[in-house]
Amino acid sequence: MSGSHLGSATSRLKALLGIRARLVILALILVVPLMLDRVMVLENARSNQFTAATDELVKLARHNAAAQREVISSVEAMLRSTAYIHVASEQTGRSCAILRASLRVEMPWITSLSVVGPNGRITCSTAPTYVGLDITDRPYYQKTLETHGFVLSDLIPSRLNGKPLLLANYPTSAVEGGEPSVIIAGLNVDWMARLMSNLGERPGVEAVLIDGKGTVLAAQPNGQDIAGRPYKGIEPQAVEGTDVGSTSVMVNGVRKFITFVRLSGTDARLLVTIDHDAMLAPINRDIQKAYVQLAFISLLALLGAWLVGEQFIIRPIRTMTSMANRFGRGDLSARATADTLPAEFKPLASAFNGMAAQLAERERDLIANNDRLTVMASVDMVSGLANRRGFQSRLEFEWLKMQQVDGRLALMMIDVDHFKLFNDSYGHPEGDACLGRVGETLARIANETQGFAARYGGEEFCLVLPGVDGARAVEVGEIIREAVAGLSIPHIMSEHGHVTVSVGVCMVTPNAEQLPAELIEAADAALYAAKRQGRNQVVEHGLARPGAPAVSMVG
Ligand code: GH3
Ligand code: MG
Ligand code: MG
Repeated sequence: MSGSHLGSATSRLKALLGIRARLVILALILVVPLMLDRVMVLENARSNQFTAATDELVKLARHNAAAQREVISSVEAMLRSTAYIHVASEQTGRSCAILRASLRVEMPWITSLSVVGPNGRITCSTAPTYVGLDITDRPYYQKTLETHGFVLSDLIPSRLNGKPLLLANYPTSAVEGGEPSVIIAGLNVDWMARLMSNLGERPGVEAVLIDGKGTVLAAQPNGQDIAGRPYKGIEPQAVEGTDVGSTSVMVNGVRKFITFVRLSGTDARLLVTIDHDAMLAPINRDIQKAYVQLAFISLLALLGAWLVGEQFIIRPIRTMTSMANRFGRGDLSARATADTLPAEFKPLASAFNGMAAQLAERERDLIANNDRLTVMASVDMVSGLANRRGFQSRLEFEWLKMQQVDGRLALMMIDVDHFKLFNDSYGHPEGDACLGRVGETLARIANETQGFAARYGGEEFCLVLPGVDGARAVEVGEIIREAVAGLSIPHIMSEHGHVTVSVGVCMVTPNAEQLPAELIEAADAALYAAKRQGRNQVVEHGLARPGAPAVSMVG
């Protein structure tokens, strides 16, 4: 791309990026980093909150498992002491009565207490219906005999009321050798659910207690729906052999984070699952709200930048431009009203006003000077009368005026007699002074007769006399001739001894067929006649009076 192309592209870009757009970009430059920072803070908060929530839940799960385990331990301890009592009282034959009496009220989760004899049949129980029941094939019974220790069964339905229960088994062989009997306590699982209640209160969090087969023993918050059923969230094999752990799985298209803790000494496990989306929903809502707020604030900032640009920059510039344009079009009174402009523009406005005032004053001076020059251009400095130019325009004006009203117009041409000789005798400056005095005289007479006197050129003068007839014109010519003679300006070369003038008069009623020049020619002709006839006299030209002699001598 050539330099000029680049230049025009830059200027197009500049035109596009008006001052408002630049302000908006500036606002964006200020707002965007803040927004990005805020977004990063929010995103960090989201992951921190998730991590904190997860950690807390893992801790809670461990505590809960410990609490569950404590209950089971207390059951184990109770069974151990029952085993002792049973072995000790077996000889007395009162063992069964003692057993029944030993069902402790402070352990409400123990629903029954039974003794299984060496033959695998229940010999004694707090629940009479169990007596005589053969349990030799039950896995928990076999496991108890094998391990010679405490065994917690998987979930089984109660024979008493069908409710799911767990059986805690303790062999007497563990306290004393001999024929092995087993003490069995039936455990209601409700207490487990109660212990877990503090886990399932958060959004997206589910606590589930499963037995070794993966059957749900208790659950929060949906215990009613899934207790006694196989747990779908996780395969038992996945957690087998591990006491504590966590894993992330997809359940029904929902990603779940699962923490599991084995209740030590049993196959039961406590699982705490977190549904990512559900748990993060409140945080996400907060973040969304924050994004909306940010967007709103950014929009406000942009709008603000636009309006500020409009109100404080564009509008004042427009005002100033329109003032300058008005001034440029010739309205010299155009001034910027600084009161309505922002403070930053006030100095510019007053500078503009000052400049406008000066220019207006100069313009006025210029007009005045021009007028003066116009006047000077039409005034003769020697005689103080209008010059030939002034005479011409006045004659044309009077000509038109009289033409409109059908009035008469007289013109007199006045020439100083033997003026060359005057100059020769008295010198040029004296000649000028003489012309000045003749001029004064003519000005006075023009004033008295409502005429207009001018210096036609050299030593020749003229008088325009509107609205008079020929006789009056000749009369005025005579007044002039006498007035000049009356000045008694010495003229040694004149036969009269003083300065005299000859006057040619012509009067017309101006019409469209004639021209002012013809009037001048006629008056000039009359003057010529006056000269020829001996000077110091008035001669009228008969232009306006058909039939009259062309030139008549008056003086
Ligand atoms: P006539 O009676 O036939 O008019 O004779 P004249 O001498 O007045 O006429 P002419 O045309 O021969 O001479 C005019 C003289 O007027 C010549 C010139 O020197 C003089 N003149 C013209 N303008 C001025 C002026 O402004 N000042 C002076 N001092 N003399 C002037
Ligand atoms: Mg002359
Ligand atoms: Mg002359």
